[in-house]
Amino acid sequence: MLIKDRLKHFPRTRFVASETPLERLDRMSDHLGIDLWLKRDDLTGLGFGGNKVRQLEFYFGEALAQDADTILITGAVQSNFIRTAAAAAARLGLRSVLQLEERVPDMGAQYYTSGNVLLSKILGAELTSYPLGEDEVGADAALHKRADELRAKGRTPYVIHLGLNHPPLGALGYVACADELSCQIGDFDAAVVASGSGATHGGFLTGLRLAGHTAPVFGICVRRDRSQQNARMKTVLTKLAEMLDIDPTLTTNDIQTWDGALAPGYGKIGDQTRKTLTLMARTEGIFLDPVYTAKTFAGLLGLLKEGRIERGQKVVMLHTGGLPALFGYQAELE
Ligand SMILES: *Cc1c(COP(=O)(O)O)cnc(C)c1O
Repeated sequence: MLIKDRLKHFPRTRFVASETPLERLDRMSDHLGIDLWLKRDDLTGLGFGGNKVRQLEFYFGEALAQDADTILITGAVQSNFIRTAAAAAARLGLRSVLQLEERVPDMGAQYYTSGNVLLSKILGAELTSYPLGEDEVGADAALHKRADELRAKGRTPYVIHLGLNHPPLGALGYVACADELSCQIGDFDAAVVASGSGATHGGFLTGLRLAGHTAPVFGICVRRDRSQQNARMKTVLTKLAEMLDIDPTLTTNDIQTWDGALAPGYGKIGDQTRKTLTLMARTEGIFLDPVYTAKTFAGLLGLLKEGRIERGQKVVMLHTGGLPALFGYQAELE
């Protein structure tokens, strides 16, 4: 069955106007001795773009099918997900409630005021805060409490969940992205992608396997170490397989992760992050973000060093966006 036909069963609101570019990075390819291609999902368009735009197509599809007038979402203070959700809500004339979690300790003033926070305020979102950063179930529960208050006032809220006890609807956006990439690229030897909630990694891996690609898809850990992330991926992939009515072992036997660039932790910039971010900017004029894509590129370099990616191979890296966060991290980057 075609991937497009499998996705037809899910309500979807289109936000990505056209295919995102697949670019060969000539100077970086020469520098690394590989054939490096970048899928530019930083250019998905809506509200400064990034990977969450594709994921939100399916959440807003469901929200509109339920006649929601307000969407609620939780994330880190500099979350790209909540910023793009606020932009999507604005485009559709819905209201948005964004819950900012304290996930990253010891950050300066700009982290709380600039970058994504500033953009979310411009978008007119209601901002609330949640004191913990590693409590997905609690964070979802707090959103539900706010949703109940809104319901009592006659509004129709829709909650975008991050917890693993809900279907990973956003992963469908990356099944679609893999389908799109498959038509752009032909054969390749390895793919490298950030692995946070796992929706992107899980959807991308599933879509590539459905499209017949067998190359390894390396998920670079940005939030949790390998053993935790592998367990998470197994759950995400199993739920996604159920949603798409496919055999879960097509993907669950095929989880590959790397966590050598995770230190000093989620949302924290280490030496590697700073180095890879400037290397990409100065070699290709392309910006990476400090939380996800600089670590993803550090992962590619790490895999190359370990020989899991070999010289001469054709490699595709997914640029998942996140660029407004650069300004929230100004003090750490200067
Ligand atoms: C959220 C995010 C990721 C991680 O995607 P998941 O689907 O949560 O794994 C990667 N890059 C950027 C820029 C993000 O905002």
